Order: sequence, then C-alpha cells, then structure tokens
Amino acid sequence: MPDTFDIHEYRHRMKQLKESSDSGLYENRDGVVCPVCGEPFDRLFVMRSDSHSFPENDGAAFCLLRQDDGVYLFRH
Ligand SMILES: [Zn+2]
Repeated sequence: MPDTFDIHEYRHRMKQLKESSDSGLYENRDGVVCPVCGEPFDRLFVMRSDSHSFPENDGAAFCLLRQDDGVYLFRH
C-alpha cells in the first residue's frame, strides 16, 4: 500500500493553480514525490466531489490515490 498524502505537509512546496470546494489543482515546484510510484510529479489534482470530467489529456502518465478526503491524481 502506498503512503497517504498529507497535502498540508507539502502545501508550501506546491503552487496552487485552482481551488474550490469540489477540487484543487496544484503545481509541483519543489520535486515533491508521488506517494504511489515514488517519482516526482508535475501537477496534483484533488477531487473531493463524486465525479469529474477531464476535457483534455496530453498523454502524460498519472497515478491515482484514493483517500478519505478525496481522490488524488498525480500527473507526471
Ligand atoms: Zn506516480
């Protein structure tokens, strides 16, 4: 099992691009490592709602982590 990801612990190492009650989008600017695969990620999307559509996909690999406070999508 991967580690959980405490966003408050890494918040100061990421730039917040968007934030709402349903979701959050952050840019990794300090080489924070993805808890799923162990590699640094580019962006983190946090989904707190039940569903979400992604209008674009640039083909980048990503990892998903489901936690009590939402689904975390780490895009590499
Ligand atoms: Zn990963």
